[in-house]
Amino acid sequence: MCSSHHAHQWILCPQCDLMTQLPVLLPGSKASCPRCHTTLHSSWVEPLRRPAGYALAALFMLLLANLFPFVNMRVAGLSSEISMMQIPQVMVSEDYSSLATLFMLFVQGVPAFCMIAILLLVSPLKLPLPLKRGMTRILMQLRSWGMAEIFLAGVLVSFVKLMAYGDIGIGSSFIPWCLFCVLQLRAFQCIERRVLWQRVAPLPALPARPVAGISGLRQGMRSCSCCTAVLASDRLVCPRCGSHGHARRKHSLQWTLALLLTSILLYIPANLMPIMITEALGNKMGSTIMAGVILLWSDGSYPVALVIFIASIMVPSLKMLAIGWLCWDVKGDSRHHHDSERMHKIYEMVEFVGRWSMIDVFVIAVLSALVRMGRLMSIYPATGALLFAMVVILTMFAAITFDPRLTWDRVKDKSTEESFSDGQ
Ligand SMILES: [Zn+2]
Ligand SMILES: [Zn+2]
Repeated sequence: MCSSHHAHQWILCPQCDLMTQLPVLLPGSKASCPRCHTTLHSSWVEPLRRPAGYALAALFMLLLANLFPFVNMRVAGLSSEISMMQIPQVMVSEDYSSLATLFMLFVQGVPAFCMIAILLLVSPLKLPLPLKRGMTRILMQLRSWGMAEIFLAGVLVSFVKLMAYGDIGIGSSFIPWCLFCVLQLRAFQCIERRVLWQRVAPLPALPARPVAGISGLRQGMRSCSCCTAVLASDRLVCPRCGSHGHARRKHSLQWTLALLLTSILLYIPANLMPIMITEALGNKMGSTIMAGVILLWSDGSYPVALVIFIASIMVPSLKMLAIGWLCWDVKGDSRHHHDSERMHKIYEMVEFVGRWSMIDVFVIAVLSALVRMGRLMSIYPATGALLFAMVVILTMFAAITFDPRLTWDRVKDKSTEESFSDGQ
């Protein structure tokens, strides 16, 4: 049957490199990889109008969130009120421009860019091809770097931290910000990579007749990491999206290990040095991450103390261990199917939870912007916060540079049954 070999039906799993033929999907269902169960493609009702609607609404909420006061605090007759824009301004005035830049990029810049890109890409506008290509590529790469919802969690944690000292109130911008977080998450969720790329350019022709159930590497094909096109292994530049690539990421292990080592080296001072300085009635006191957790615990805020402990101490250390283990395991020679499956679960967990470690950095951003009551009580960021932010960013890069297909390459191919799971 010739029709069953059209390019748009074939896909190489980005996680385990298994060649699979996509079934015709009903709207609202998804196809996952029969070997590692990664979602390969989801089919949405109204695949263009829905993301456009969410993105437009999100941008409107972002505008509202920047116009009005965000949160306020009253302590002993003194009151302080901040807007979203004042948070980075305060950090700049404290000589923490680097933290302010990270804050602006992750919390506002990246999500705003992504929403505008989604809106333009799904609109019927005739954009020049290089612009469309470039925007789709950047959108796909920036996906995990938007941290609006993590910042919101940081705001809630700072509320709990400050409740003991004064009255906390929310401004008119707070609710729009919450809505912005939800809407941008929904917009990302229902944007489908393959649909978006199909609008940029059609899939290139298949290099050969693919065989289902065998890895791409063994039949001389590779998946384009950017647009999911199936290409010949020796084709270095993808004709559809123009991105460079190899059958396996070049020097993947070396890069991952280098980034991992750097983050471990920074993690030690990040934990020993103060992340913020509290000035109360003329006394200056620095506090480390662990000291913050202990203080919250002794104040009786057990759930928040646990959240910060898990996000700032457990997750980064477990993530470093997991990445190290993945690198070590790839070098090993265990060939069992379930081993690779276990490693795959670890990899997914590491990629998903890593960014949430940023929560403590955002807590410091909110605290230092809001608590400025002169000598009565003021909070300033300290070097530890910057080091910790670097650790989170480096471990995120370490997870990105790791090629998950390496863990599956050791598994002997066997004809995997063509089973697809349906339903949302
Ligand atoms: Zn797979
Ligand atoms: Zn491509």
